[in-house]
Amino acid sequence: MKSAQDHKPPFTGPAFDNSYARLPGSFHARIEPTPVDRPSLIRLNRELAEALGLDAEALASPEGVEIMAGNRPAAGAEPVAMAYAGHQFANWVPQLGDGRALLLGEVIDRNGRRRDIQLKGSGPTPFSRGGDGRSSIGPVVREYIASEAMHALGIPTTRALAAIATGEHVERNQPEPGGILVRVADSHIRIGTFEYFARNGRPDSVRTLADYVIERHYPELADSEHAHLDFFSAVIERTAYLVAEWMRVGFIHGVMNTDNTSVVGETIDFGPFGWMDEFHPATVYSSIDRHGRYAFNQQPGIAHWNLARLGECLLPLFDAKGEAALEKANEVLKTFEERFERHFHRVLRSKLGLGGDRDGDIELAEDLLARMTDQRADMTLTFRRLGGLDASDGSGDGPVRELFDDPTSFDTWLVKWRERLGAETRSDGERRQAMRRTNPAFVLRNHLAQQAVDAAIDHLDFEPMHRLTEILVRPYDDQPGNEHYAHPPHPEQRVLKTFCGT
Ligand code: AMP
Ligand code: MG
Repeated sequence: MKSAQDHKPPFTGPAFDNSYARLPGSFHARIEPTPVDRPSLIRLNRELAEALGLDAEALASPEGVEIMAGNRPAAGAEPVAMAYAGHQFANWVPQLGDGRALLLGEVIDRNGRRRDIQLKGSGPTPFSRGGDGRSSIGPVVREYIASEAMHALGIPTTRALAAIATGEHVERNQPEPGGILVRVADSHIRIGTFEYFARNGRPDSVRTLADYVIERHYPELADSEHAHLDFFSAVIERTAYLVAEWMRVGFIHGVMNTDNTSVVGETIDFGPFGWMDEFHPATVYSSIDRHGRYAFNQQPGIAHWNLARLGECLLPLFDAKGEAALEKANEVLKTFEERFERHFHRVLRSKLGLGGDRDGDIELAEDLLARMTDQRADMTLTFRRLGGLDASDGSGDGPVRELFDDPTSFDTWLVKWRERLGAETRSDGERRQAMRRTNPAFVLRNHLAQQAVDAAIDHLDFEPMHRLTEILVRPYDDQPGNEHYAHPPHPEQRVLKTFCGT
């Protein structure tokens, strides 16, 4: 008897259902990916493939790789480059759009969730504005590792389904090997997508887009009397949560332009991002962020600013009368600060292992951060190791003390922390466990990302990428033998600048 395997039809790719492609023509440009020379698979995210209901073996096959490289059409795909605009460093740019990416289509995952599958680096589109539509392999490797690390940290983010080497070169400062990232997202709709229509005089399209986003991403709001206002409020809530979560793990997005800000609260667009080593609230890594607009501690304010831009786009949907619409928008917008604070205070308390909510908790956390700043303490290690300290016995304090230039500054703080722990209702073991779940041991430090990128660009060596990814998908485990991946860089390894992902 023949097994079912023998009757398997040739692999044609995922089963697509493309709701975005069914939106009016002004929302996108239909265009096929430009084939590449010799595509090869760098890495496939099998766990994600399974979750999407895709056949990982088939995706890894030569046919699967050709589909992901854009060399072979995927049955049912309707590739579109999405139109959007945006504020870049506060400057209005009326036309951006997917200049080096294509939305292949959407699939319904095993949980019934509709997910976008996008090729990034797939060739020029009508939105390329003179760019080559391609990506170097370096940013592909960086985004793959970073987005999977972010997901494993428990933070909403776009994901990486696969990284492909194109077998071609792209011209950057020097020729570099080309790559394609196969990216998965709940949505690729940005605040800039709304701005594209609102600021270019297309209020009807703003309504179409808003209704689409509500139906797809916020279905619980669809029947509300003021669904558009509720939608605005929901985006504010998710964005406030997201930024507080970034700050929990020391993440600096680096280029929080409105076109890089999701309307579903996912981390999107891993360009000149970085995870902090030494704690300093004003840390900036992005080489293009000369004035620190997107510094670590500026992120909540920038999120607020971006949300105000979204509110402006939605005004006509809030009320037909201009003044009333503005009033409604401002009522909702002003909740951002309080919502962010609520999330961020939860983050601070959890990082210190404080179960309850007592007066003085936030001051205690801020005091530690100030001492870490002055004493150049490593953010990730300080909190991780703090979680291992005993509530009363100070004999094991050494590993945290040594992270501070002047450990006596930390000692002073420790006395206050231990006093506060006395008021905890949980056992000390439970408190330590909880701290391990919120304070990662491993984050994608810049120097580690750089090592993986350099190996990929210089030698097409993807071992460092594989190794790093496997460590970072378990960020809260101790991982004996991998301790050096948890360590800050040696002085000569420090990477102080990160670059845009082109
Ligand atoms: P980003 O800095 O990644 O947010 O990109 C900003 C804009 O530039 C987006 O519209 C991108 O699609 C576009 N872009 C970036 N790199 C390229 C490229 N190599 N070719 C064409 N467009 C690009
Ligand atoms: Mg972008």
